Amino acid sequence: MTPVLVINSGSSSFKYQLLDMDTGRTLASGLVERIGEPIGVARHTVYATPAPAATGGVAGTPTFLDATRTRELPIPDHTAGFEVMLDAFASYGPSLTETPPVAVGHRVVHGGARFFEPTLITPLVEINIDELSVLAPLHNPANLAGIVAARTTFPDVPHVAVFDTAFHQTLAPAAYTYAIDTEVAAAHRIRRYGFHGTSHKFVSEAAAAFLARPLVELKQIVFHLGNGASVTAIDGGRSIDTSMGFTPLEGLVMGTRSGDIDPAVLFQLERRAGMSVDDLDDLLNKRSGLLGLAGSNDLRDIRAAIGRGEPRALLAFEVYVHRLRAYAGAYLAQLGGADVISFTAGVGENAPGVRAGALETLGFAGVEIDHERNESAERGIRVISTDASAVTVLVVPTDEELEIARQTLSVARP
Ligand code: AMP
Repeated sequence: MTPVLVINSGSSSFKYQLLDMDTGRTLASGLVERIGEPIGVARHTVYATPAPAATGGVAGTPTFLDATRTRELPIPDHTAGFEVMLDAFASYGPSLTETPPVAVGHRVVHGGARFFEPTLITPLVEINIDELSVLAPLHNPANLAGIVAARTTFPDVPHVAVFDTAFHQTLAPAAYTYAIDTEVAAAHRIRRYGFHGTSHKFVSEAAAAFLARPLVELKQIVFHLGNGASVTAIDGGRSIDTSMGFTPLEGLVMGTRSGDIDPAVLFQLERRAGMSVDDLDDLLNKRSGLLGLAGSNDLRDIRAAIGRGEPRALLAFEVYVHRLRAYAGAYLAQLGGADVISFTAGVGENAPGVRAGALETLGFAGVEIDHERNESAERGIRVISTDASAVTVLVVPTDEELEIARQTLSVARP
């Protein structure tokens, strides 16, 4: 067994997953939340028969649940949270003393222009991650808190940072440069970075493996449609364009984020509606997207509201799909056509109407959806295009934890 522990740390919570990298299976997962509040909560789930590996199986889905244990207790900081996690492993298994993790992988949101691959964490790397908090003030300090606590808890194993931005470091200057004053941009490191890289990398590689085609030969478009959403054009395994930019706000319509918007709307709201920068940040990041348009960030609610005949829900859906189609066209143009288009994450894996809507006008580019396949309730990686379609369209369940664990192991045991 080769256990790797994956940590995804937020400011007042962290998620963890223990995977056996001999099989790619999840052994246990958990969530420690409300850190710093009077009462915190810790959940720990053990998989009796572990979830199958992602590719070809039911990716990341905890199918054979043994038990989820929940504890409520004060958890003053991340280090205390890691002690609670260790208690859970000791009480419910699997035993970390019998089979300790060979490495710990950490999701880090922003690697700036500095980190383009998974990186062994040293004190200097911690300083760099902290310094990049200027670019990701909500995420990097939270990621770092998890790293510091985990390094205290597991001092003797390698810790590896896996950056959301790293996969997009292959973007050419023409794709990542904003057309603004270059001195202003350089002084403040304003450029497009792109996010969700771990998922885009995982999905594009899983698609190539599933089709038994060399990754380097494939032109791919990957739609990661979850609560956050982004799309990436991938040529031969390299990201050449992606919809998120300086922050994860740019691009597609999301659960609560607006995606692309004319920046002059902000000037107008500041001047005419007296909104502050913080108000505008809150508006575009937390009160826009599907939520702003239709009152819920969850596509299941939007679908139900459309069924009840609510016009604003129908408009929200149409705006969402209109944007997807615009990006599909743009990325077909950037790539010069595509071999594979994949859909992943909560919406991408579960909403056939969104997938069909995004691609329905692309017959001219050789994209032909098979509606029966698209509507099928089948799980796991699957084809939803017709056999005659020149472009293969796939649903590929993402598994970011498995990808982080793989990359972690590649650094810890090169
Ligand atoms: P994620 O961020 O990948 O966890 O995706 C979460 C989002 O996926 C939710 O907010 C929903 O909009 C969407 N979603 C999850 N399950 C379904 C489903 N069965 N049908 C439609 N949308 C879903």
